[in-house]
Amino acid sequence: MPTPLISIAEARERVLAAVETLEHERVPVVDALDRVLAADVAATGDVPPFASSAMDGYAVQDGPAGRELSLVGESRAGAPSERTLGAGEAVRISTGAAVPPGATAVIPQEEVEVRDHVVLTNAGVKTGDHIRDAGEVMRAGIAVLRTGTTLGPAEVGAAVAAGAGDVLVARRPIVHVLCTGDELREPGEPLRPGQIHNSNGPMLVALAVHAGASAPHAKLLPDERDATEAALATSLDAADLVIVSGGVSVGPHDHVKPALAGLGVQQVFWGVALQPGKPTWFGTRGRKLVFGLPGNPVSTGVTFALFVRPALAAMQGAFGRPLPQSQARLGVDVRRNTRREQALRVRLERRGEETVAIPNGAQDSHVITSLLGADALALIPPGEGTMEAGTVVTLAPLPG
Ligand code: AMP
Ligand code: MG
Repeated sequence: MPTPLISIAEARERVLAAVETLEHERVPVVDALDRVLAADVAATGDVPPFASSAMDGYAVQDGPAGRELSLVGESRAGAPSERTLGAGEAVRISTGAAVPPGATAVIPQEEVEVRDHVVLTNAGVKTGDHIRDAGEVMRAGIAVLRTGTTLGPAEVGAAVAAGAGDVLVARRPIVHVLCTGDELREPGEPLRPGQIHNSNGPMLVALAVHAGASAPHAKLLPDERDATEAALATSLDAADLVIVSGGVSVGPHDHVKPALAGLGVQQVFWGVALQPGKPTWFGTRGRKLVFGLPGNPVSTGVTFALFVRPALAAMQGAFGRPLPQSQARLGVDVRRNTRREQALRVRLERRGEETVAIPNGAQDSHVITSLLGADALALIPPGEGTMEAGTVVTLAPLPG
């Protein structure tokens, strides 16, 4: 293993320094889930576009209880009443329907009695009661969503409400996932002795897609130099970012690093003071990024979270999705690693005023189930002895 190992923070800085942002494209807002805005979305008009009723009831002029108003029409959602309402008049109105001209309030239907086209008011109403003003939610021209925002379901809805039909976003990064290992079989295939399923491939593709990437199915590679180099050459041409799983340790069957060197990929670092994830490799060829992630499934998930996810976010110009909080108290004693920072998969629990981080089952790097239901990574700095329960630790997001 190379020395010295660099810290997580240093490794991430070197990754981000190598990132170049992608070109922009316009896409229909209905197809923009998980994409990153490359321009602000401003409201094209007031939202709501007209003063509307917040209740089912009667549009009226403001006034006291005990009035007898004549019912002169109806304003339904999508079918406004054209008529100007005068004193002594009421117009039946549904929630979301336009308040007719001349009306200054809405009286809810529970507060009236209606007989023979006469509305008896059992409560008084003041100007503006139960009316949603035009522009109350968004004013025409204001930026509703900022450049760098990742569009989740709520952002898609807000962009549409703002009047957007399409949005300018970063092009999707193209990610290729290559999985090395003679022991690997495709999902669902029967296993012969010594074989395991390629769980990293589909997991990495899923993580990349959730990070806004376009990623074809993962490819299996034998532990063999020529095949490794040929597959890497193809992916380096086609993809913006290549993830190689496994084969970056120091074993005699680890062919990834020499193959990458043969293809002109420059090593930026190899080896991070991180547990799990020590043999993580990173390099570049022009603006293409290549990650060699250790094969153990937890190492794969952790190193994707710490290094690849931030790279994909930066390529798309994203703010990233920060955790609601960045620190928690350790819920148990943790034995420290003398040389490496540990990334524990934790569940976060509320205890009174505190948030407590509880390790999510066994922490060995092959225990993929420790990623299930984990809320975050808790980072334990290297050192001697034990870090005691109650110590405040830093959290890093664990993308799902
Ligand atoms: P390596 O990094 O190639 O030395 O692999 C380390 C460990 O991770 C070994 O136990 C491998 O069998 C396992 N492993 C490697 N690649 C995968 C994969 N794609 N899916 C699941 N386990 C893997
Ligand atoms: Mg291997």
